[in-house]
Parts: sequence; C-alpha cells; structure tokens
Amino acid sequence: MGKKIIVAGGGHGGIGCAALLAKKGFDVTVYEKCKRKDIGYDWTDIFDRKAFAAIGMDMPSDDKWCLKNDMTFYGPNMTMALVQNTPVDQLEIQMERKVLYDCIIEYAENCGVKFEFGNAVEAPIMLGNRVVGIKTEKGDVFGDLVIDSCGMNSPVRGQLPEYLGIQHEAQPFERFYVWRGFYEKLECDNIPDKFRLMLFHKGKLGISWVAEEEEYTDVLIGRFIEPDMEEVEKTLAVLREENGHLGEKLVRGGAFAHIPVRQPLAVLVADGYAAIGDCAFMTVPIIGSGIANSMKAAKILAEVICNDKTESYSAAALWKYQKEYWKQIGNSMAPMAAVKLLLTRLQPEEIDYIFEKGILNAEDMTISADTTSLFDMVKDMIEPEALKAKITGLAGNPAVLKKILRMVKDIAAVTVATTLMPASYEVNKVRKWAEMYNKCFKR
Ligand SMILES: Cc1cc2nc3c(=O)[nH]c(=O)nc-3n(C[C@H](O)[C@H](O)[C@H](O)COP(=O)(O)OP(=O)(O)OC[C@H]3O[C@@H](n4cnc5c(N)ncnc54)[C@H](O)[C@@H]3O)c2cc1C
Repeated sequence: MGKKIIVAGGGHGGIGCAALLAKKGFDVTVYEKCKRKDIGYDWTDIFDRKAFAAIGMDMPSDDKWCLKNDMTFYGPNMTMALVQNTPVDQLEIQMERKVLYDCIIEYAENCGVKFEFGNAVEAPIMLGNRVVGIKTEKGDVFGDLVIDSCGMNSPVRGQLPEYLGIQHEAQPFERFYVWRGFYEKLECDNIPDKFRLMLFHKGKLGISWVAEEEEYTDVLIGRFIEPDMEEVEKTLAVLREENGHLGEKLVRGGAFAHIPVRQPLAVLVADGYAAIGDCAFMTVPIIGSGIANSMKAAKILAEVICNDKTESYSAAALWKYQKEYWKQIGNSMAPMAAVKLLLTRLQPEEIDYIFEKGILNAEDMTISADTTSLFDMVKDMIEPEALKAKITGLAGNPAVLKKILRMVKDIAAVTVATTLMPASYEVNKVRKWAEMYNKCFKR
C-alpha cells in the first residue's frame, strides 16, 4: 500500500490532487464536513476549462457547461458602460458548482480516492515540528502528509504553530463578504445588460452584479465590510429599481459566503503539510476566482509528492511545490493584490473619473481564461491612443495619479519580494521572507 495521504476538506484543489495521487498508488482519504448531498453551493461558477486537464480529467459533456457571458462594468454613477469583448476561444466556462463537484468526486472515486463525508476536521496533530495527522469530530487520524483543502477559514492552517511562519487568518480587506441568490426573472421589455457588474454601487465599497439567466436573475452583492441581511435587502431594493427583470422571490441559492481577495499565502508548506486552494488564498485577487488556480496547483503538488523519493514529505521536499506554484501562478497573482489594494483606496467619484477619462477602458476590463497575469491585463494599455487618454486623464487628477503611483510602487515592491523568496526551505529564512512579503500589502 502507498503512503497515507490525508486531504482535510473537499476543496477543488484537494480533490484534484487526491485523484492524481490515488492514480499513482497512494492511499488517499478526503475528510469533508458536509454530507455528500450538501457539498458545494447552489450556484454557478465561471472558470478556465483547462482546470480539468490539469487534474488529468476529460472535459465534462457539453450539457454540463456553457460559455460565460461577457460582463458590462459600471462605475458608481452608472453613466459609463464598459463592455467586455472576449474572443470566444478565450471565454471561460460556466458550470453549476454541484455538477462540478459531482464530476470531480466521481473522477476521484474512480481513481481510488476514499471520501469521509460528514466528518469535520478540527485541528492539526503535531509531533514536534511535524504535522502528523488531523483531529476530526469522529476521532484522530494519522498519515504521512496532510493536504489542507479546508478553504479560507481552515482550522488546520489556523492552528499551526506560529514558528512555522504560516499566516493563520486573512487580514481586513483581504476577505470579500458575499451574498449570492438567484431570483425570479420578471418579464421586462428592456433588459439592459446580460451580465451587469457595478463597482462601488451607491458608494458602497464593493461590487454588485445582476446577470440574466434563462430561468432566473443571478445577484451577487459583495463587500469588504461584512453586510447583514438588512443591508442586502436595501441593496436588492435599489437593484430592482434599476433592473426590471429582478424579481422579489428567491428561487435558488441565497447564502452568505467569503472569498479571499488577497496575495497568495506566503508559506504553503511545513513538515508533513501542504496548503492548497482558498486555504492558500489562491484566488485571483481582483476577481475572486479560485477554482482553476486550485486545480492547476493540484497538478504541481501531486508531481512534487510523487517525485519525493525520500517519501519524507518534509517542508524541504515540499518547498519545490511552493517554488513551482509561485513560478507558474503565484508570481502573477501577488501583483494583482496590489491592484486590489488600489481599489480599496479609491473614492467612488475617482472610479467614475477613471472610467470617464478612459484611464480604464473596455479592453482593460476584458479578463479572459488566458489572462493569467497583470502583464496580460495591461499589455493593451500601451496601445498609443489608449495610452494618450490614460496619461491625459491621470494628469488631470492629482489625487488619482497619487494613488496609482502608490500602486505602481507596491507592485514593484511585491515583484522584488517575490524574486527574493528563499531557494530552499530553512524555517528562519522562510519566516523572515514571509514577513517582508506580507508587509508589501499594507492598506
Ligand atoms: C459567492 C462565490 C462565488 C464564487 N464564484 C467563483 C467563480 O465564479 N469562479 C471561481 O473560480 N471561483 C469562484 N469562487 C471562489 C471559489 O469558490 C474558490 O476559490 C474555490 O472553490 C477554491 O476554494 P477551495 O475549494 O479550496 O475552498 P472551498 O470552496 O472553501 O472548499 C473547502 C471545502 O472544505 C470543506 N471544509 C471547510 N471546513 C472544513 C472542516 N473543518 N472540516 C472538513 N471540511 C471542511 C468545505 O465544506 C468545502 O467543501 C466563488 C466563491 C464564492 C463564495
């Protein structure tokens, strides 16, 4: 029998990695707090279809997904509409989360992964510096490696000893509080946009979206400061005034959830431990999409584990996962966290100014499946006419210019910090580096 791998939590990356490892003969069990029927939210997700290939899976059949609609962005005063225009071959796909879970769980089970549903993980079990297992509500479980896929609020990551340098909690403005619900779709002669996304809607620090689907109207209300149901209801009332197809009756979903919108976790590994997915803050910081990155990380982690001939799964051996994740994905995500910080510093009227003066245009807002770095996003910005508008716009508003220059400085600092990541794992060096890296993201 192969080495025993514990996957704490049934996140997408954890299940993907479990499948790849089980295929190679590892003895892998996923411990998931939800019952099988309850896993996954009652809503749809948008992500890069290459995620399936990353975990060695065939693309699910055509009836299980569709291409996403382009979004139309509005600033707070709702006067300028920036419409995405994504080439069809670069469009992400849209899929029901529960269907996605059905597909990846079935695939993992066929690969030999065992699942314990309805068993919450409570804490790591330590032996000296090493994670040797997990405490679950049904008892202690020991293994050769714990893959932490428990999401953003993982009780495993959150209770690791401080000296490992692994951050326990996301900080303020690194967590996006979201309400998502599907409402009755009303007859309406004039549905303004298929997928409308409003930044700082009515001056609130966050976003709202209203998307027309075949059978319902999809609403997401996101804030950096946690909203309560009263605020959600007030926002819904305003959205109904502006979007005639948004009805009163909630037909699906209707839940609060959190999304990490921040830089990737500085340290992904410890002896006997690796973090993946939202637990390692692998979402794209400015849009909160984390499914594809998690499944791509699964491939990297599985390869490192399979190539660890010592079978020690020590932090030193798993550091290759850290380095490779950062090389392929993390180095592109961290600068985007500096862009997100800019968004949290801007005033609503400054966002309107940025839209109106073309400092950001529709091209800039077109984020495709192949937009994997800040460079991909800004490369069209240097087109001469667009650049001229941006420079003129910035010159006309010193306050906005100052904030953008601060972001440029932040991006430079982040880029320097990421290049200084230690080549090999030594706990003190790694901790020092993590402190320096985390300091780049002060609001
Ligand atoms: C409203 C909303 C919309 C989103 N839309 C998109 C989108 O369109 N596209 C996209 O790419 N991403 C989207 N995301 C982000 C996406 O959900 C995550 O980035 C992605 O699922 C990867 O996270 P994860 O699977 O690692 O963590 P999670 O989704 O948090 O999954 C963690 C799993 O661990 C389980 N778990 C948690 N605690 C325990 C415990 N103590 N014991 C055992 N099990 C536990 C949970 O039940 C869950 O099954 C969205 C998130 C939200 C909240």
